[in-house]
Amino acid sequence: MAILQRQNTLTNPTHIDEWDRDHSWHPFTQMEEYCSVPQLHVERGQGCWLWDTEGNRYLDGNASIWTNAHGHNEPDINAALVEQIGKIAHSTYLGLSHPVGAKLGKRLVDLAPESLNRVVFSDNGSNAIEIALKLSFQYWQLVGKPEKRLIVGMENGYHGDTFGTMAAGNSDAFHGRFQPWLFESLKFAAPECSELDGKVKSADMGKSLCQLEEVLEANAPQIAAVVLEPSIQGPAGMRLQPAGFLKEVETLCKRNEVHLILDEVFVGCGRTGSVFACQQEGVDPDFLCLAKGLTAGYLPLAATLTTEKIYEAFLGAFDTGRAFYHGHTFTGNPLAASVALKSLEKLERLISSGRLEKTIYYFGRKLAESFEGQRNVGDIRQRGLAAAIDLQPRQGCVPWPPNDRVGLKVCLEARKHGLLLRPLLDSILIVPPLVINQEEIDFLFDNLRTALEAVMKNIGN
Ligand SMILES: *Cc1c(COP(=O)(O)O)cnc(C)c1O
Repeated sequence: MAILQRQNTLTNPTHIDEWDRDHSWHPFTQMEEYCSVPQLHVERGQGCWLWDTEGNRYLDGNASIWTNAHGHNEPDINAALVEQIGKIAHSTYLGLSHPVGAKLGKRLVDLAPESLNRVVFSDNGSNAIEIALKLSFQYWQLVGKPEKRLIVGMENGYHGDTFGTMAAGNSDAFHGRFQPWLFESLKFAAPECSELDGKVKSADMGKSLCQLEEVLEANAPQIAAVVLEPSIQGPAGMRLQPAGFLKEVETLCKRNEVHLILDEVFVGCGRTGSVFACQQEGVDPDFLCLAKGLTAGYLPLAATLTTEKIYEAFLGAFDTGRAFYHGHTFTGNPLAASVALKSLEKLERLISSGRLEKTIYYFGRKLAESFEGQRNVGDIRQRGLAAAIDLQPRQGCVPWPPNDRVGLKVCLEARKHGLLLRPLLDSILIVPPLVINQEEIDFLFDNLRTALEAVMKNIGN
């Protein structure tokens, strides 16, 4: 009886609100602010849509934090998951294998640039980068160059929230306070590029490449690797790189005998129109890190791809201690691997059929049409299915104080119009599932525009 009563209260939405407020601690969230605005509990999803506990429907405008590819509750992926769960949900990858893990490793290597032939699985993006950093560090020790241990990161880089990734990254706003605990790393300027609907509005990579060249030439014997997010720095607000930039970075790394680690946690798996972003420039990195979209937004899984040359340096008799001691309990989880395999199969069809390209084209068009020249819109950046709209006060007005939370206000207003988005300060980031259709793109931008106009009117802009 007591158990029955408890189950009843567990499904009562009023309690869910209360329990969430009383006991949850949400990441990247000022909880004081969170508790002061209406809560939203997502209960189910279908395609690009989400429903909350009160039955309201929302378009998933940020693909459930940049992960969803083929829609929610997708029949083929569900079937792959059900098939795998009927066999086994989890078995370790430490010293053992399983068929879906082996298949996924082979599939990733087939899809990836030529140089990459080995896959280390883990379970989130930060780990994928952390593993690449540690593999690079250990590699140089194993080949007799232990002094090569500095990491070079790019301005505005974000690679995760663990200590190694914070040190390699450059997100002062998020991580500045942890500086005293971070290992030393070098930085170089990011290039500049504004692009929308396939048209480059401005671009400059000269300063960035000069700085990288200087840093490498002055310190190469001490540098292990350069790490960056190719094509788009998503978490920094969709900051773009001009075409040709990555190829130049690759050339500089090769010339200076420094590893190139590409963080494709965000841009990988179709986001920019190809399976991997680095393929658009024919770049062959030493490490390629994947997570977010790898399982189409279903389950946590990450992969760090690397070369046979690096792998071979770790081989030897047991007592040489050359093995790589970094693994997570749920590394290469079979459920997640089965979903990733199915998702990659569907992604290849989405690309080869031309559908993804058409979607990207329409997304760029509609975004430009809806917001270019708008009074409170500054720069708009878009590449692939990723976009940012920088909001700004009307000309001549003083900048909005941060506590005005204009970006958040626009996103909260958008909710009332059936649209879920997450701001980055006063920028609105838009990252829909890869299968979003034209009607849904219209819905997205029409309602975002309505929300933006309503908020501007309200705050007197
Ligand atoms: C999200 C993200 C990460 C971190 O991934 P987690 O799974 O959140 O640890 C790293 N790099 C980039 C570019 C990301 O977008």
